[in-house]
Amino acid sequence: MPKIGNIGFVQKSIKDNQFKIKKKFGQNFLTDSTYLKKIVDSAELDKNTAVIEIGPGLGALTELLCEQAGFVLAYEIDEELIPILNQNLKDYTNYKIIFEDILKANILNDIELYLKEYSNIYVVANLPYYITTPILLGLLSKNLPVKRYVMMMQLEVANRICGKPDTKDYNALSIWVEYKAKPTKVCKVPRTVFIPAPNVDSAVVRLDVYDELPIQAIDEEVFSKLIRQCFVQRRKTLYNNLSLAYDKDCIHKMLDCLSISPSVRAEGLPLEDFVRMSDYLTQNQK
Ligand code: SAM
Repeated sequence: MPKIGNIGFVQKSIKDNQFKIKKKFGQNFLTDSTYLKKIVDSAELDKNTAVIEIGPGLGALTELLCEQAGFVLAYEIDEELIPILNQNLKDYTNYKIIFEDILKANILNDIELYLKEYSNIYVVANLPYYITTPILLGLLSKNLPVKRYVMMMQLEVANRICGKPDTKDYNALSIWVEYKAKPTKVCKVPRTVFIPAPNVDSAVVRLDVYDELPIQAIDEEVFSKLIRQCFVQRRKTLYNNLSLAYDKDCIHKMLDCLSISPSVRAEGLPLEDFVRMSDYLTQNQK
């Protein structure tokens, strides 16, 4: 019978003063086994699958992942958690925790070192909210051999990830995610199920990464820079935002050639138009 998150040790570790919660690391620990189970169930794990976890914290999610996945490779920035994680995960041998900032880690190297034998690699995490977007953009742009992401994040970011054109949630993150993966919102999570409670509600999002991209930019760096620039000032027109960073003449010619109105706002354009603009710039920019 698989365990459903030994939530007791989260409260105990905090109550016994074994550990001081650090706000600067976005430490909000999940204390409700129903939501832990929802995260793990929606990842659909098996023993041929390895999981990369970001921020194991006190190990509540890690424990469930060790139960259901073949191996767990976790990154934790807070070295004060070493003895607590060793204690809380003492029944398991199928994990490795690297005490390092995920934004600085050489993940590809670590995958080669620890996860070579696994056919499926998923990322499953309750993300530190202060760096949700850099983590997501960083992981997606590295083209890691990761097939699925199941992540808890602040509701606002989850809405953006699943944002559609012509809505207030649609932005560069929505487009970057839509380019790489199929996003699904799994569930909303109230702030009350964390210790300490954050100031915002959360949501679990699942991203299934495309084996083959339905539409591919010639140069993903050009594409990434372009979509960020298109939304740099949300209320400005596409032309005004682009002319802040690119040659004005080139932008005029591009919009004319692609039959995109210079007065539209980026929030009204579908993914295909961003890829067309990116490819034009790749081929025509000096
Ligand atoms: N997984 C635990 C849970 O579900 O209760 C903890 C989640 S807590 C929201 C985020 C965790 O990420 C904390 O343990 C924190 O120390 C860790 N963390 C914060 N910044 C990090 C970084 N840059 N790299 C790796 N871990 C980080």
